[in-house]
Amino acid sequence: MLTNDKLSEWDRENFFHPSTHLAQFARGEIPNRIITGGSGCHIEDRDGTRLLDGFAGLYCVNVGYGRPEIAEAIAEQAKELAYYHAYVGHGTEASITLSKMILDRAPKGMSKVYFGLGGSDANETNVKLVWYYNNIRGLPKKKKIISRWRGYHGSGLVTGSLTGLELFHKKFDLPLTQVVHTEAPYYYRRDDLSMSEEQFVQHCADELEALIQREGPDTVAAFIGEPALGTGGLVPPPAGYWKAIQEVLDRHDILLIADEVVTGFGRLGTMFGSDHYGIKPDLITIAKGLTSAYAPLSGSIVGDKMWKVLEQGTDENGAIGHGWTYSAHPIGAAAGIANLKLIDDLSLIQNAGDVGAHFKAALQAELGDHPNVGEIRGEGLLCAVEFVSDRDSRTYFDPGDKIAYQVNAALLSRGVISRAMPQGEILGFAPPFCLTRAEADEIAGKLGESVREVLG
Ligand code: PLP
Repeated sequence: MLTNDKLSEWDRENFFHPSTHLAQFARGEIPNRIITGGSGCHIEDRDGTRLLDGFAGLYCVNVGYGRPEIAEAIAEQAKELAYYHAYVGHGTEASITLSKMILDRAPKGMSKVYFGLGGSDANETNVKLVWYYNNIRGLPKKKKIISRWRGYHGSGLVTGSLTGLELFHKKFDLPLTQVVHTEAPYYYRRDDLSMSEEQFVQHCADELEALIQREGPDTVAAFIGEPALGTGGLVPPPAGYWKAIQEVLDRHDILLIADEVVTGFGRLGTMFGSDHYGIKPDLITIAKGLTSAYAPLSGSIVGDKMWKVLEQGTDENGAIGHGWTYSAHPIGAAAGIANLKLIDDLSLIQNAGDVGAHFKAALQAELGDHPNVGEIRGEGLLCAVEFVSDRDSRTYFDPGDKIAYQVNAALLSRGVISRAMPQGEILGFAPPFCLTRAEADEIAGKLGESVREVLG
């Protein structure tokens, strides 16, 4: 199949690629890359080009490529029982075992796991559960969800609304009216540079309080946030942020959804971002790292407080009217079990923390003094370099310059994949957890060369 010289043509003629400039792609103005294999932190395309994947696909192949343990678990499950549904109390050994493994690793106070297929549908589930919860409690007006500008929570109707990035709203008639946005905890980009970190945290909490008052506390049901902002710029929160936010939410009986699609299962060097930052969520969204993307699987972990009300709801109204054909798909569950075991057996979370710290230091050593590098930030294996035209004033480049895209391309020509984040001149890195120090040094060194090629 891969020698078929029609493959590129078929690709442009038939395949609707997500997050792609459709017209340019159809006209052949942007390249296609057909990936054929992967091993550890590297992937290979059909031309035989080997690339060091500094973004683990879409920060999801956390254990690295080509793991036979997971492939075999998937094959065994497919041979034994490829599918049975999970409705009306049905399950498989794989789905039941995986739900226990998740709860064993989850922050305290969580009760059950509902399984979906991807992060977007898991957040869709979360919003429905929040609405159901407040209807059962006799609070039918309390339905709005607060998200942050620059948050990323998916690209469905509700989840695309929760996402606080313009590209995901423009021309799609989003956000829906039930969703409102508040300030991003982006200390580097605060309006008033004289604010200390502590003052900025207070400012974020005050902004949230003011928004809740404007909307009416009795209309606000939940707040959703990634422990550390992901697609919106890879921004760890300022110290004390989550404590201050949680105090505001508690005051107004507002639920907290921690979207751990990126941070769950080790990316920050700890099992969950919630534990990392002392967050006490009512719902946790999981996906990517649950199976390291070897099979599609996501989950909504429901906390004790909500679970009791959901049970009460079904006593009053009958079975919960929510579920998909592929909820808790056995093949995804088998992949999840093998993946979580591998993470433990190879101490990959420890490695993400250790090599992550080394990687950040290497980036700092390579680029810390460059006049166009405004900030190098990160936590564990989630790192970003932000480019500015003037370091002191933090002036943005002209968006037309597409600096991050240019650096990304220069780095790719040196065999390393990074990600130019969708908003701002930000280059992101989120490699597999099996990254070695030598590979971290290779990325940092080649990034240094690429930045100097583009910016001097
Ligand atoms: N939530 C977060 C934090 C994400 O980063 C993503 C995807 O990148 C999603 C939700 C949506 O997940 P999916 O693309 O699997 O629908």
